[in-house]
Amino acid sequence: TITTGDFVAFISYLFMLSWPMMAIGWVSNLFQRGITSLDRIKTLLLEKPLLTVSPQVKHPSGIKGFIKIKNLRFKYPFSDREILKGINLEIKPGVIGIVGRTGSGKTTLCNVLARIYPVNLGSIFLDGIDINELPIEFVRKAIAYVPQEPVIFSDTIASNIAVGKPDATQEEIEEAARNAAIHEEILKMPQGYETRVGEKGVKLSGGQKQRLAIARAFLINKPILIIDDALSAIDIETEQNIIRAITRHLKNKTCIIVSHRIAPLTLTNEIVVMDDGQIVARGTHETLLKENHFYSTVYRHQITFSCPGKGF
Ligand code: ATP
Ligand code: MG
Repeated sequence: TITTGDFVAFISYLFMLSWPMMAIGWVSNLFQRGITSLDRIKTLLLEKPLLTVSPQVKHPSGIKGFIKIKNLRFKYPFSDREILKGINLEIKPGVIGIVGRTGSGKTTLCNVLARIYPVNLGSIFLDGIDINELPIEFVRKAIAYVPQEPVIFSDTIASNIAVGKPDATQEEIEEAARNAAIHEEILKMPQGYETRVGEKGVKLSGGQKQRLAIARAFLINKPILIIDDALSAIDIETEQNIIRAITRHLKNKTCIIVSHRIAPLTLTNEIVVMDDGQIVARGTHETLLKENHFYSTVYRHQITFSCPGKGF
């Protein structure tokens, strides 16, 4: 038997206790989540970079753009399959095309050149210096790389073009866009260069995204330009205009244009044909057409079917 006063006090205490009890549950839940997140952050912080720089690191003053690849073999980390099977290639300043069927290792070669993956078997020399003896930032700063799948940020067109050079003037941005054959299209957009492109550039077409990425590379103006199949979603006429702009503006730079179609590369000084991780032919479009059966057959096939996709 309890008194009314005791009963009221008991109920009041019960009410006072309920929130702290809930808070204990909430805090313990938060604590558990924190521990799990900390574990994930720790794994990331303890991750060892794949890329290492040799102890005899060199610091040249600039890069002229001479690339020499010697007996390069490459396997992706955690994979046993050899993707590049002994590549030997010398590239001088000028425009060179690399063509090959899908899966032949073109993107892999570009990634290794841009020092995204390490060079362990064979060597790559940049102006005669082993790439492993150059600081990673130095190599990255010497190369403008347009990847096969460009990353577009949820920002304005102008900021997306100026990603590599945030202090670029409006004139510089427009000049880059003009060379990438996208200026006119940008002007037709609701707010021109200030148009926001949405998350991952959802408001742009595939070809517009590719040209935006090319404009970015034009703007930063590096000694070496690598365009990895970034013309695939662009019509043939625009594609030829961009390649003409490249040959005109980047005359004394090294420009590597990768494509699985031959047509866009006919304007380049030289074409390298890759197949199954190897270089199977090299020469100008005309000599390859005359002397290389594989090349001429594929070219005729692509022309006949004017295949815009994976025709190689
Ligand atoms: P495409 O014309 O389709 O772009 P590609 O010539 O660029 O083809 P790569 O992307 O270099 O071809 O791929 C060459 C091979 O390497 C493919 O067989 C692919 O399966 C393999 N590969 C690509 N990326 C990886 C990766 N990160 N890990 C393991 N294997 C990979
Ligand atoms: Mg590729």
